[in-house]
Amino acid sequence: MSTVRISDDAVARACGADRVSDAFAKLGWTVERVSSWGMHWLEPLAEVNGVGWGPVTPDRVAEIAEGGADDLCIGPVAVHPFIASQQRLTFARAGKTRPLSLDDYANSGGWAGLDRARAIGSEQVLAEMAQSGLRGRGGAGFPAGIKWQTVAKAPGDRKYVVCNADEGDSGTFADRMVMEGDPFALIEGMAICAHAVGAGQGYVYLRSEYPDAIAKMNAAIDLAAERIAPFRMEVRVGAGAYVCGEETSLLNSLEGKRGEVRAKPPLPAIAGLFGQPTVVNNVLTLAAVPHILAEGGAAHYDALGLGRSKGTMPIQIAGNVRHGGLYETAFGVTLRELVYDIGGGTASGRPVKAVQVGGPLGAYLHPDQFDIAFGYEEYAGADALIGHGGIVVFDDSADMAAMARFAMEFCAAESCGKCTPCRIGSVRGMEIIERILAGGRKADAVEVLPQMHNVRDADRSLEDQVALLEDLCETMKFGSLCALGGFTPYPVLSALRHWPEDFGLTKQAVPA
Ligand code: SF4
Repeated sequence: MSTVRISDDAVARACGADRVSDAFAKLGWTVERVSSWGMHWLEPLAEVNGVGWGPVTPDRVAEIAEGGADDLCIGPVAVHPFIASQQRLTFARAGKTRPLSLDDYANSGGWAGLDRARAIGSEQVLAEMAQSGLRGRGGAGFPAGIKWQTVAKAPGDRKYVVCNADEGDSGTFADRMVMEGDPFALIEGMAICAHAVGAGQGYVYLRSEYPDAIAKMNAAIDLAAERIAPFRMEVRVGAGAYVCGEETSLLNSLEGKRGEVRAKPPLPAIAGLFGQPTVVNNVLTLAAVPHILAEGGAAHYDALGLGRSKGTMPIQIAGNVRHGGLYETAFGVTLRELVYDIGGGTASGRPVKAVQVGGPLGAYLHPDQFDIAFGYEEYAGADALIGHGGIVVFDDSADMAAMARFAMEFCAAESCGKCTPCRIGSVRGMEIIERILAGGRKADAVEVLPQMHNVRDADRSLEDQVALLEDLCETMKFGSLCALGGFTPYPVLSALRHWPEDFGLTKQAVPA
């Protein structure tokens, strides 16, 4: 009897993978549900003896079963150019293993990192983590080894490992793919961390919008319980506030409180969950750990990348792009390669206008900037962020003034309300953008506070409105308590500077 492998990742299922699986099963085929290769434009992808067909619809299944449907055949999947050009460490098992098979996990090198960590002891684990240069993949890029060392040294009755799985950035899906496709890798990474810092309990904080990931993680934790003992793990489901991706807000939510940001210090590494020393790392950070602890992994990781951006980054290519999907490679790749060579340009066939990198609070990069190498410092130098590695492509029909206004609106909607620059500034930011779009006059529908700068808004020139927006962005950037208010200026100012014409402005009206 023949066997076909089809992904049960949420993207594949949303594209009809369940119906394609049923169609193969009706023909008497054995269907193996595996993780996704990450070539989303080809989902549902059916793989028979290593050869792939995609995207498959149920009415083409009989042809594939007979060895036909040549127009859908992509040849051997493992050597497809999209896969062959990657350096996959975190996603080394993607497309190859059944997510909840302990045998598949162990047979593909799983648990080697945990076994070695237990053999070499926590001091050596901490040293190797520092050597690897792994930085938090959630956005801030803080060195994971230093955070772990701080927790290991901090006094506390109990210590915790918290996985920030509250993936909420636009165009990001790598965390979800790890949890749905390779959940034991995250569990192993958390168990290694717990061993290194002396934690007994771990939590995976997930948002309710990820039902498949919640189910997979719960099942995987049950299956791995004996393997990771005495470390214990649980999944906790949040309601999906964007600010709960901020580590202190997440900790409040985990404690059953309102998801509001805490002032730092104290750092969570010193006083985190329930006031105890806590490692908070995101999914990609923790899932990178087993490779680093497996034999020779730390040196291998350290040797990859660019400057202080070490190792590989799973980059999520989304938006108006032909070949959207998951692309893992060492830091240093350019946006030009990602958008044109790997992504195939826009899905609409129109010219690329902008790429937003790093989620809804990331800067919009202009094609003139597409040669900047993908790295934390390189992007910071261009007033941009790599964040969680999501890139969203826009064609020339995008209205960048509308996108800038949306950034302020998003911040206003998601603000936890704790600090004024974010809570009030985002609303005022929307108003100023509306006034700019209205040609400098007060937009009819907008309420304003003329006393703010002792000038009636109706009397402000267009240049004054631009200066006011820049001033407000400066205040939000440096006066906000967390990244939500602090990073909103990135999309706003980048849109204003690179596409002033969308705001009805000339280049001269916008200071560089
Ligand atoms: S920046 Fe916004 S989300 Fe962050 S603490 Fe201030 S009000 Fe809350």
